[in-house]
Amino acid sequence: MSEPAWPAPPEGTCTLSGTLDTEVAILGAGIHGAALAREFTLRGVSCALVDKGEVGGGTSQWSSQLLHGGIRYMLTGDIRQMREGLAERATWARIAPARCRWEAFWMPHRFWAEGLAHRIGIGLYDHWGAERPGWPPALALGPIPRETYRADPRSAKAPFRGATAYADLMTWDQALTRDLAASSEAPRLDFHDPEAFEDTAGELKALRLRDRRDGTLRRLQARRWVFALGPWTDGAMASWFGDTQKRLRLSSGIHLWFEAVPGCERPWAIRRPQGRILFVIPRDGLLQVGTTEREVEDGWVPILETEREELFQALEANLPGLPWRKMPVRSEELGVRPLVAAGGRTTHLSREAILERHPRFQNLTLVLGGKLTTARALMDRLATDLTGLPCAASTTAPLRLWDGQPPSIL
Ligand SMILES: Cc1cc2nc3c(=O)[nH]c(=O)nc-3n(C[C@H](O)[C@H](O)[C@H](O)COP(=O)(O)OP(=O)(O)OC[C@H]3O[C@@H](n4cnc5c(N)ncnc54)[C@H](O)[C@@H]3O)c2cc1C
Repeated sequence: MSEPAWPAPPEGTCTLSGTLDTEVAILGAGIHGAALAREFTLRGVSCALVDKGEVGGGTSQWSSQLLHGGIRYMLTGDIRQMREGLAERATWARIAPARCRWEAFWMPHRFWAEGLAHRIGIGLYDHWGAERPGWPPALALGPIPRETYRADPRSAKAPFRGATAYADLMTWDQALTRDLAASSEAPRLDFHDPEAFEDTAGELKALRLRDRRDGTLRRLQARRWVFALGPWTDGAMASWFGDTQKRLRLSSGIHLWFEAVPGCERPWAIRRPQGRILFVIPRDGLLQVGTTEREVEDGWVPILETEREELFQALEANLPGLPWRKMPVRSEELGVRPLVAAGGRTTHLSREAILERHPRFQNLTLVLGGKLTTARALMDRLATDLTGLPCAASTTAPLRLWDGQPPSIL
């Protein structure tokens, strides 16, 4: 497979020296790599963070931006994943209040019995997720009064009788990823292309990197290595080591960003076939709509007209009161989910993550799969495994802001 072009680096130079020596080298500065760098810093262990692009410039900037238990797990019955997500949601609200906003999501129902089922499921979801630091008391949960529901333009001509509201947390994914990176002392080797590894006796020793800004070569030496390369993992392992094992299945999802629609105030989560959810979320002065699922082969893939069309059809079928095809689309984005390759179709694949000790290099761990929501917890576990040092501060230490503002604590 020929490698698609990576976004061009910015102007400027990197002031780091030509040789770096660190305890742990982390390749990939998405939410997992950035969270791991924070974990090592909290434990007083040195690390370096390498990325071929910018920090938070991969999948971690194209998500639906929810730190959530995953209401869809209520439908698929994966209660353990859901409860883990709900616990982590509370942790994010505590350590990253500047990047979190609580919301009351409306889940509409088509008929009375479905409404009752939603009320029971949502009641449990909000009961298990009762820890909500900073929850604004004015946000109403539970059955939405008929007049309030009717006042939302999405309800016009819709095949729904009403809606029930549940709580979830929204974030700004790239900003959160960058805050995690800023909360570590790791030197940042962003826009650095890994060129050649050195290894001896079944261990990785060093990596030669080329700065994509000006071509400068750097040598990074480390005792341990972690690759958190998201959907690019299989491709990188094949090109760097000839390791062709297929560890991931990749599933793309798209979001369309429409101009804001007056009267659409709360986010909607509409149930679709196969346990999928259609999100329609007012945020940042726009209306974000997504998502679809399509199996793909790489982290960089274009949006297909067919998946854009599928999203429009889902919008028209569920929310026919709005003229979707006439509404200006301000921007669109496609993200690729790295899913653990456990077989089956992508819609049924687990969102769980695996930490794999590489069979050839004993000091290399691969981060496979995962979600924004559980990235901190997973990287906390990995850092504890690698250092033998548990760290209670991981769930309490407020994040430093990437743009330099001081952290605030709830
Ligand atoms: C459409 C969509 C919606 C989603 N919604 C949610 C949601 O609402 N909530 C949630 O919790 N999760 C969600 N997810 C999942 C979540 O976004 C991802 O699981 C998570 O962002 C993956 O992070 P990562 O750090 O593993 O990968 P990435 O963020 O992709 O990071 C990998 C990094 O590796 C770098 N890299 C790649 N190749 C190389 C190389 N050769 N050398 C050096 N660096 C390299 C990339 O530049 C990138 O920065 C969603 C995913 C998608 C696609």
